[in-house]
Amino acid sequence: MFKHLPKETSLQKALSVFHYAREHSAFYSEKYQSIKEISSYDDWLKLPILTKDELFNNSYPKSEKMLTLDMPLKKTIMTSTGGSTGLARYTMLTYKEWDAFLQRQADALRLMGITEEDSVANLFVAGSLWPSFIALHDNIRLIGANHLPISANIDFDKMLAYIMEFKPTVLLSLPTVFVILADKILQQNLNVDFVKIIGYAGEHMSEMIRHHVRKAFGNNVKIESLAYTSADCGLIGYQCDSCASSEYHLPTDFQFVELYNFEENRVCAPGETGEVLITNLERLSQPIIRYRIGDVAQWTGKSCACGDKNPTFIIGGRAGDDFKIGGAYIAMDVVEKSFSEYVSTHGISANYQFVLDDISGGKLKIDLQIESSDVHESEKLTENIRTNIKKNIDDIKVGEEMGLVILNVKFLELGKLPRSPITGKVKRLNDKRVR
Ligand SMILES: [Zn+2]
Repeated sequence: MFKHLPKETSLQKALSVFHYAREHSAFYSEKYQSIKEISSYDDWLKLPILTKDELFNNSYPKSEKMLTLDMPLKKTIMTSTGGSTGLARYTMLTYKEWDAFLQRQADALRLMGITEEDSVANLFVAGSLWPSFIALHDNIRLIGANHLPISANIDFDKMLAYIMEFKPTVLLSLPTVFVILADKILQQNLNVDFVKIIGYAGEHMSEMIRHHVRKAFGNNVKIESLAYTSADCGLIGYQCDSCASSEYHLPTDFQFVELYNFEENRVCAPGETGEVLITNLERLSQPIIRYRIGDVAQWTGKSCACGDKNPTFIIGGRAGDDFKIGGAYIAMDVVEKSFSEYVSTHGISANYQFVLDDISGGKLKIDLQIESSDVHESEKLTENIRTNIKKNIDDIKVGEEMGLVILNVKFLELGKLPRSPITGKVKRLNDKRVR
């Protein structure tokens, strides 16, 4: 389904994007001022990279410098990345580019096993320029399946009522949404064996969450990431049935991807971890060339058992999933490990928030807030979880003994943790000390 281009052909497409950008975009003609003619891969490697700040500061509507289009914009769509960091970034695509992005995403959904025989519940939040809901609308239409545009803008009981009424075979949403659906299904002891595929995007799905979702939906349901995508570049990786959970095929006719070692200033060999630099081969309205997207990955260097010639890479986590106490960095996995054995029992959910805040007297206040379908029952485990946290994180144990740390474990009713009004995500780590 996905075309394969040899690296040289992919590079030639990337070079033509470069030439187009330099000629038509004010930003790129300035950025590449001192670059002479380029035609080979060695030349390509001399091109300066595109940083997040450059993209943020030169994108429409903040600036028109990166655009290659005339104003006013026509036949275009604006989307937002959701702004979970407080600084929303906007992306403008022409309808033609939007269609090209969606064709690839639809192909990735087909590879997951979604066909026109399926009934697909779209459970993403709509509005605020967030693209997921409307993009999936177009994806499902391209596949020809029955679309249930339920959204996550409604309350969770209503969402579940629609699911029980229409019995969709496929559910698409954020891990956060699947957790609360699982909580309610387990609480009401509902049979949802009509669901065959759960596709998620937007957040990482930890083992703890996967396990919890399986408890509710059964062991036969296929749980897969929708794809590795970015708002600016579209689909960067898709999964076949042979791919491991963080392994993806590169669509070589759509992206030119380099993995780069910035410390040694060279491209990575297979098996070496490097930063993802991405050049989209079809977006010309605002070209994206050698964009340092902030992810790390490594080429596997192996041919895939599925027979697809597009190379595979393994993506590493995004930074920011850990916090600092004393001098040590602590991963959120360690926090999850303190209560994961209790999730799906005693009404305990896998949706939680870990809040760190400095309070008066130089003390650190730590609250682990976990949603629950039976708060009274869950509270029986409060002390066990407190003990586990102190056992797993020595700095908290010592801090509490010295009176410098106040550790609380609290249970909240389902749906009570703060959720982003734009994306519906629950922030698992809320470190109020970090501004
Ligand atoms: Zn494969």
